[in-house]
Parts: sequence; structure tokens; C-alpha cells
Amino acid sequence: MWAVVAPRRPLLAAAMAAAAAGLALAVAARRWRRRRPVREVLFFPSPPSCTEALLAEAAGPGAPVQPCPCPLPRNDCSLSRLLRRLLSARRSLEICLFAFSCPQLGRAVRLLHRRGVRVRVVTDAQYMGLRGSQIGLLRHAGIQVRHDQGCGYMHHKFAIVDRRMLITGSLNWTTQAIQTNRENVLVVEDAEYVKPYLDEFERIWEEYNPTKYRFLSQGQ
Ligand SMILES: [Zn+2]
Repeated sequence: MWAVVAPRRPLLAAAMAAAAAGLALAVAARRWRRRRPVREVLFFPSPPSCTEALLAEAAGPGAPVQPCPCPLPRNDCSLSRLLRRLLSARRSLEICLFAFSCPQLGRAVRLLHRRGVRVRVVTDAQYMGLRGSQIGLLRHAGIQVRHDQGCGYMHHKFAIVDRRMLITGSLNWTTQAIQTNRENVLVVEDAEYVKPYLDEFERIWEEYNPTKYRFLSQGQ
């Protein structure tokens, strides 16, 4: 009897081990899929949509969430996807934009600042003073903003989330561009692309340091 049962046990053990290994592989594969780097293309125009729920949810558990009474659709769209990518920031956000006047994106950036994310903004001196610009509101909220000194446009349009995700393309963060222009935005988690953009941001950030403004050294 013993001689019959004994050989079966190693078989059973082997089968169980194989099943366990299979399960472990499946779990690892799921994790790998979850961690796969972001690669997303967004095209605009994005139809007018209500982003209230998305922004309210991102404001945190203590924030009041009331259903928005506006009649706009709540569909997934390029603007909501862009907002989600930005709102995924946990540590840092660098923004380098020629024009920034979209209220929803402005609200998202202020929200991140309130959540403790280190936000830095580089923008164009001429555009930032125009009516509707979000730059004043960002500064009022305590966000660091630096701008060029008027020699050529600061014409970049990119952002870097947590030093790992690059958002770049033709899109200025204006409602006009978002709702009416044909624009493209690429979202990538790829260190080979993120690094040169971060370096460029730091280079511009230093160049636009207010202590280096020419009018300070001209003695006028
Ligand atoms: Zn709404």
C-alpha cells in the first residue's frame, strides 16, 4: 500500500508547485502590466466637457463634492485625460508654457500645490500679462513662476510630472486651443526623453532667475 501511495505524493507536490508557480507568474504579469510606462497621444480639439467631478475628487477626501449643475457632458476626453495625468503628480511638477489661461488646468495646478507638490512654472512675459492668464492666480496661490525678459518668445509647451512623465506637444493651455485648435500632446514615461526636458527646464529656470534680470544690472 505504502509503495503505491508514495510515488503519487511527489506527483501531487509537483503539480501543486507548478500551479503555485503559474499563479505567481500571473500575478507578476499583472503587476508588470500595471507598471507599464505610460505612452499616450492626445489630440485636440476636445469638446467642452464638465471636469468638476474629476477636480473635486482630486482635491482630497475632506473636500466637498457636489454634483455640478452644468449641462456639459462628463465623457472621457482629451482634456480630462490631460488633467488626470497632471493630477497623478505626488512630488513635483515642472511647467514650461507659452500661454496658460485654461481655468480647469489652472485649478488642477493650484490643487497640486495645495497638496504639497513642488510646482514650478516658466512662461512667456508678454502672454502672462494678458487678460484671462492663469499666471497671476498661480502666483497668488504661492506657486513659483519665472518668465523670460522679452527677447524672443518662451514658446515651449511641456510639463514634467514627478521627474518621470513628460507631457509635450503643440498645445498651449488655453481654452481656445483646447476647444477649437487642432493640437497634439504626447505623454511618455521614458527617462531618455524626460532627462533632456528636465535639463532644459533647469537651464531656463536658472536663466530666468530674477537676480539675473538685466534691468537690475544696468543701473538705470
Ligand atoms: Zn459642470
